[in-house]
Amino acid sequence: MTIPRRQFLSQSAAGLLAGCVLGQTSWSNDKPRDLQLSTFRFDATPPMGHSLCGGWITPVKEVEQPLQAIGIVIRGAGQPIVLCAVDWTGLLNSCHVEFRKALAEGAGTTPDRVAVQCVHPHDAPFACLDSQKIVAQYPELPAIIDVDFFGKLLGTAKEAVRSSLDQARPLTHIASGKGLVKEVAANRRLLGPDGKVRAMRGSSCADPALRAEPEGLIDPYLRTIAFYSGDERIAACHYYACHPMSYYGQGKVSPDFCGLARQKMQDSDPGCTHLYFNGCGGNIGAGKYNDGSPPMRPILRDRIHAGMQEAIAQLVPEPIQNVSWATCEILPKTAAHWNADEIRKQIADPKQAVVARNRPSYTVAWIDRCNAGGPPIILSGLHINGISAVHLPAESFIEYQLRAQKTASDRFVACAAYGDGGPWYIPTKEAYPQGGYEVSVAWCDEGVDDLLSQGISRVLKG
Ligand SMILES: [Zn+2]
Repeated sequence: MTIPRRQFLSQSAAGLLAGCVLGQTSWSNDKPRDLQLSTFRFDATPPMGHSLCGGWITPVKEVEQPLQAIGIVIRGAGQPIVLCAVDWTGLLNSCHVEFRKALAEGAGTTPDRVAVQCVHPHDAPFACLDSQKIVAQYPELPAIIDVDFFGKLLGTAKEAVRSSLDQARPLTHIASGKGLVKEVAANRRLLGPDGKVRAMRGSSCADPALRAEPEGLIDPYLRTIAFYSGDERIAACHYYACHPMSYYGQGKVSPDFCGLARQKMQDSDPGCTHLYFNGCGGNIGAGKYNDGSPPMRPILRDRIHAGMQEAIAQLVPEPIQNVSWATCEILPKTAAHWNADEIRKQIADPKQAVVARNRPSYTVAWIDRCNAGGPPIILSGLHINGISAVHLPAESFIEYQLRAQKTASDRFVACAAYGDGGPWYIPTKEAYPQGGYEVSVAWCDEGVDDLLSQGISRVLKG
C-alpha cells in the first residue's frame, strides 16, 4: 500500500533530519494461484501542434510512427501487478502518479503495484501537470502538456487495461535471456585529466575525435524476460540502457530506434506482445556511433533488434514457482543551489528563450513536491523464480543498473529506469563534482545516490 503523506512523514522523520527520506518498504510474497497474464496497448500519440520535449523543440507537425503505451497485467499473486512502457520522453510528478492510478483502477489494484516507465524518445510529450500549471500563467509559452488530451488518455488507459482482463491467458512459465548489442551505447561524459567533464558525446556526435574515444562505462547487454502460457510465448519485456534518439527536433513524432526495434520484433512475432524498457541510460547515448543523419535510424534499430533476437534465442522456459512484488518509497532532497523564487523570476522573464523558461518549470515542480513532503517516488521490483525486474525513476546513471545486478548477483536482474521523471538526471555522488550537462540539470543533491542505492537493495533483497 502507498502510505498517506502524514504517515510517510512521521515514519521518515529520522530520514528527514539526515537530509533524505527513505520511506516504507513492502514485500508481498503471495503464493501464486491460477496465475494469469493479459496484455494491453493503446495509442499515446499527441495531437497536431502539441508540444514535444517540453515545448522547446518543434511541436507536432507530422506523425512518422505513432506512440504507444504497452503493458502487461499479472493476476493470481496477491493484488494485480501492472507493468507499462510508454513511448514518451517522460512522465513527471503528478503525471506519473495519475498515470499509475488510471492503470491501477483499470486492473483493480493499488497504484503501488503499477510500474510505468518511459522509452524516452524526444519527439514525444514530456509530461508534467505541475510544471504545466506554472507555464500556463504565461500565454506566450508553449504548453508542457495539453491537460485535456492527458485527461482523455487516462480514460483510454484505464479502459484498455480493464478490457485486457477479458483476454487473460493462464501464465505458467517464465524465461530470461540476454543479447550483446554492438555499436549503439557509449558513455556521454568524457573526462579531462582534472577529473571534470571536458566534452559530451550526445545522442549524435559530429566530432570524429570524440567519436573515436572509447565507449566508456556502459552495460552492453539487452536483457529479455519472457512470459509463457504453456509452450506459447505471450509477452516479452526487453531492457537496454541508452538514450534512444537517433535525431529529433523537427516535429516528426516517432518512438525512435528502440521503439522501432520493438515494432520490428512485434511484426515478426505477432502472437507475443513485445515491450521495450529503457534502462539506466542517463549518462549513455548513441553519439559514438551516430552522426545524426536519417539513414542511421534504421541501422541503430537493427542493432537493437539483433540484440533482442540473440536474447530470445537463449530463452528456456521454466515453470513459475513463486512471484513477489517489492516496493520502497524515497523522496530525495533538492540540491541547495536551486532557489525556487529566483527560478520563478526567470520563468516570468519574456526576454528568456522558451527552453530557459519551460525547462526550469520542471525544477520548481520538483522543489514544490519536496517542500510538500511528497508524494514519494516508488521503486519497485517484480521477482519470479530467479528473475527480477527493477523499476527506477528518471534519468538514472548506468552505475545504478550495474549496482542492482551486483546487489543480486545470484539473480537475473533487468532494470527499467525513466519511471517517475520528477528529479530529472540522477547522477552518482562521484559524478557531481565532475560537472557536465547531466549534473547541471539534476534537481536532487548527491544524497540521492545513497538513497537510491539503498532503495534498489531493498526492492531486490528485502
Ligand atoms: Zn535524457
